[in-house]
Amino acid sequence: MSDKEEIQGPDSLTKKAKDLNIEGYPIEGLSIGGHETCIIFPSLSVAFDIGRCPLRAVSQDFLLISHAHMDHIGGLPMYVATRGLYRMKPPTIIVPTLVKEDVEKLFEVHRKMDHSELKHNLIGLDIGEEFYLRKDLKVKAFKTYHVIPSQGYILYSVRKKLKQEYLGLPSNEIKNLKLSGVEITYTLEEPVIAFTGDTMADFIVDDSNIDALRARILVMEFYITGTDHGLPLIRNSHILLMWIKWIGDEEHIGSITLDFPIDCTKSEFLGVLEQIRHGTLNTHCTFVNDSITVEHARDYGHTHLSEIIKHAGMLQNQAILLIHFSARYREEEIQQAIAALPPSLAGRTFALTEGF
Ligand SMILES: [Zn+2]
Ligand SMILES: [Zn+2]
Repeated sequence: MSDKEEIQGPDSLTKKAKDLNIEGYPIEGLSIGGHETCIIFPSLSVAFDIGRCPLRAVSQDFLLISHAHMDHIGGLPMYVATRGLYRMKPPTIIVPTLVKEDVEKLFEVHRKMDHSELKHNLIGLDIGEEFYLRKDLKVKAFKTYHVIPSQGYILYSVRKKLKQEYLGLPSNEIKNLKLSGVEITYTLEEPVIAFTGDTMADFIVDDSNIDALRARILVMEFYITGTDHGLPLIRNSHILLMWIKWIGDEEHIGSITLDFPIDCTKSEFLGVLEQIRHGTLNTHCTFVNDSITVEHARDYGHTHLSEIIKHAGMLQNQAILLIHFSARYREEEIQQAIAALPPSLAGRTFALTEGF
């Protein structure tokens, strides 16, 4: 973390939670890259990652942990202890199988130190494995790509539906069929929520992750937004993404999409900026911080803005909730970047800015 990144002061802690309701699901929690991530779906009693254990997380019966970085797992003992303190039922905690043993040891150490029970039900889940949280809700782990072992989770709603051939039958006939032992229903499983945790964009092009891309809501991290250089964002029909590298004393531009020379000189670049400023360039423009390239994001196992846009067509989700912004950004900058997304993402993309 650079020294430019200020820690959020107590002001932000007292700020009233912002109401976020997507696709009929209220969503709470907060996510600040490197600080803490905990995403809560209170209507399902599910929290994804625990961060530093925000108070609202304590009342969720199910906790799904994506990976063991401190900003995602740090509050785990506190979560279990606080539920014990309030005599709530022991929570069910799902972790990647690889870290299960260490999590057990962690609780052993805490028990030894404070002589408490720390009751909970710990489940190790491997990629592709499923677990029923309730009769009508199951979770499946999917592969993500981070610098340490990690996985995402898909929540499926599981419902019994009447088979096509019995639709429209009078209810007493259906009842009789059922009594005679005929299987009149089938099980409909629908991916409703997918949570990635920290990952590079590679999870999008992994064929086995198709359900994550068609879940009604995708909660994914988004490492960088950038509205640098004090440029106004121009909203036009095209998107231009670029990042700027200093080579010698000249700025070079790498552009991943259209309408722009890939390698132009600083003066050419400034000329284009002038055109953008004056609205004479037909370009929709999101600038990505020059210090943070796709490669930089990948080095730390994260997803870069440009990669999300590149893969936008593959994301069939009705809604995408972007989380895990760096603390260096202000809420306005994040909202500006969201507002400037291309049509393929606009309107269905939200940002969790609690704490910013
Ligand atoms: Zn993180
Ligand atoms: Zn991480």
